[in-house]
Amino acid sequence: MLILPQADVITQPYWDRARNHELCLQKCVHCENVWHPPTPVCPRCQSNRYDWTPSSGKGTIYSFTVVQHSTHVAVKDRVPYIVALVTLDEGPRMVANLLDCEPHEVKVGQRVRTIFQQVTPDCVLPQFVLE
Ligand SMILES: [Zn+2]
Repeated sequence: MLILPQADVITQPYWDRARNHELCLQKCVHCENVWHPPTPVCPRCQSNRYDWTPSSGKGTIYSFTVVQHSTHVAVKDRVPYIVALVTLDEGPRMVANLLDCEPHEVKVGQRVRTIFQQVTPDCVLPQFVLE
């Protein structure tokens, strides 16, 4: 059993681009603020006019946690796993799993890059790995 994101009218462009292995962010047409996660209006000026802009997918670990105990049957075979809060080079912070490393290898301030994990034929999740 997988828990998958449910796209809506606001987030659909984000997930469509992720399926093409592109991480993208919303950028306000009015004040040029760039943000994540997707929202219907700019968090800075509340304008509803925005474009989607590509992200480098690179960033720095701001914080992380190691999940040791599963709280849902969907992740019971995955523990321990790492959830990282990453400051993207474009500014916004993004939460995703940190893959392909052991918990003792992770430190705040480390550089990461985005990879795209195909979890179903229709769903690709942006995740992080250490650079
Ligand atoms: Zn704005």
